[in-house]
Amino acid sequence: MSSSDKKSIAVIGAGTMGRGIAQVFAQARYDVYLHDAFPEALTAATGQIGKLLDKAVDKGKMSAADAAAVKERIRPVKSLGDVGSHPLVIEAATEKLDIKIEILKKAQTHVADSGILATNTSSISITQLAAATDHPDRFVGMHFFNPVPVMKLVEVVRGLQTSDDTVVRTVALAEEVGKTPVCCNDHPGFVSNRVLMPMINEAIFTLQDGVAEPEAIDNIMKLGMAHPMGPLALADLIGLDVCLDILEVLHRDLGEDRYRPCPLLRKMVLAGRLGRKSKKGFYPYD
Ligand code: NAD
Repeated sequence: MSSSDKKSIAVIGAGTMGRGIAQVFAQARYDVYLHDAFPEALTAATGQIGKLLDKAVDKGKMSAADAAAVKERIRPVKSLGDVGSHPLVIEAATEKLDIKIEILKKAQTHVADSGILATNTSSISITQLAAATDHPDRFVGMHFFNPVPVMKLVEVVRGLQTSDDTVVRTVALAEEVGKTPVCCNDHPGFVSNRVLMPMINEAIFTLQDGVAEPEAIDNIMKLGMAHPMGPLALADLIGLDVCLDILEVLHRDLGEDRYRPCPLLRKMVLAGRLGRKSKKGFYPYD
């Protein structure tokens, strides 16, 4: 696939999603070059992946040798310039347009000839991001779900200029790493977050209005709608900052008041209560 016979990929951003994507590709025998602008994020990422793999060994789901090989295949890279050249580069950094454009302009130089540059964005326009690159036909949304090693779906999002060939190859790559790809067209929030985020936002408005405590809101949605987890617990898992970023994109780009982020969500983010990743959101996590 690359200059050697080995399969390889670069992942830019080693937060909640980047580390999960790195693990999934390493488990599919890819050499993974994982970059983050913050070295502590890389340390946290390799530490967490190691813990998850050790847990899998303890539970008998993976052999110790396989877990060690997966760990070995993930290479933390401090400087983006050192990630090398790969048939697939996935950007999974902070959900901000300016940050993503800056990364993508540099990351495209690390895509091997005729390779694919993908973004894991939850809501930002694939068409707009693609336009900032030299090969918009080989740019695609590859939207993984949290936690990546567990969730089967990859929403493959086609920008205006994404080629058929790029979509076909992205679908094949998702399948190769054990995921189930489903394709859609580029539109704010795509399918997943266009539907999910208004529900999460409304749950936060419900809490803000004093209709019920977080546990009650989540239990009503779990037991009454057969959702595996309640919307507030899910927001904590996604990250409240990420939820706010997505709602801002929906509000701005779809131009409708119904997507206005709940003031309580803004307040929680300002307070640094970001959910599981900061150990405090709608629930405490010790
Ligand atoms: P996160 O905050 O956990 O991680 C983002 C990472 O990006 C951080 O480690 C940060 O240091 C890094 N970063 C910031 N600027 C960078 C730069 N210039 N170069 C390299 N790294 C940089 O966020 P996340 O939840 O992992 O989200 C990442 C992307 O995935 C976002 O686009 C988000 O919308 C999307 N996403 C998130 C979820 C979710 O449930 N959290 C689900 C699907 C998609």
